[in-house]
Amino acid sequence: MIHALQSIIEREVDRWVHDGSGPNWWRFPVCVGIADVTDPLFGKLQHAVAPDHALPRDLLPSAASVVVFFLPFQEALARANRIETPYAARSWAEAYVATNALIARICEALREVFASEGHESAVTPATHNFDEQRLVSRWSHKHLGYIAGLGTFGLHHQLITPQGACGRLGSLVTSKPLEPTVRPEAEYCLAKAGQRCAACVDRCTYGALTRDGFDRHRCYAQLLENDRHFADMPLVDVCGKCVADVPCSYGVPKASTAERK
Ligand code: SF4
Ligand code: SF4
Repeated sequence: MIHALQSIIEREVDRWVHDGSGPNWWRFPVCVGIADVTDPLFGKLQHAVAPDHALPRDLLPSAASVVVFFLPFQEALARANRIETPYAARSWAEAYVATNALIARICEALREVFASEGHESAVTPATHNFDEQRLVSRWSHKHLGYIAGLGTFGLHHQLITPQGACGRLGSLVTSKPLEPTVRPEAEYCLAKAGQRCAACVDRCTYGALTRDGFDRHRCYAQLLENDRHFADMPLVDVCGKCVADVPCSYGVPKASTAERK
């Protein structure tokens, strides 16, 4: 089933590029993971993320599975975002806007496929589904991605997938029972695996990500700084320096790629 879902998603990416909707910012293969809504980890989201984090059956009472997918960004996009300072690269902001729209298209395509098989789906927005005071998400794609076996969390608090951490996540809830993806047993993040790496911390010159932890308020302030900088664009609360061209940007990092500073 994973391969069938991958094909649907990649077909939508190809359509986006070939119908002239915009540049191709993405890499293949896309990553797909599936969670069974009865997975006990869903019960921990309200403690781990936010007390009002939604559960799949809040979105769709008949929910049986959650499909989470990751659209990896092209390496040139990450390199541009690394080089441009102090703001995010304009291409990074453009890719963010485009990917959010593409995720909506992909979710609609998946919804149609499931509907043709007689199943219901609930589509969730790619972003801006969070509490702006507490800065916590009520539908955290990265936590759902973790439950769906897409990867493990890095020191930068992002999900490291088999295609890395540089890209965007989308998800959909469906009433179709699907075989859940087995979660990785090993930590993908070098630091969490006991290797020396803090490249993501070194990239964050805004005081949000340090070796001691992550200050979500400082991070959000920087995202809004970028939004002000790109005032001619739709909302682009982006930064992404901590995932730009680091050992875990494009795949599961190897110890030999660790940046030692
Ligand atoms: S850059 Fe290194 S320490 Fe940071 S998340 Fe990636 S692998 Fe982990
Ligand atoms: S997104 Fe930017 S501000 Fe936030 S932790 Fe990463 S580098 Fe720091």
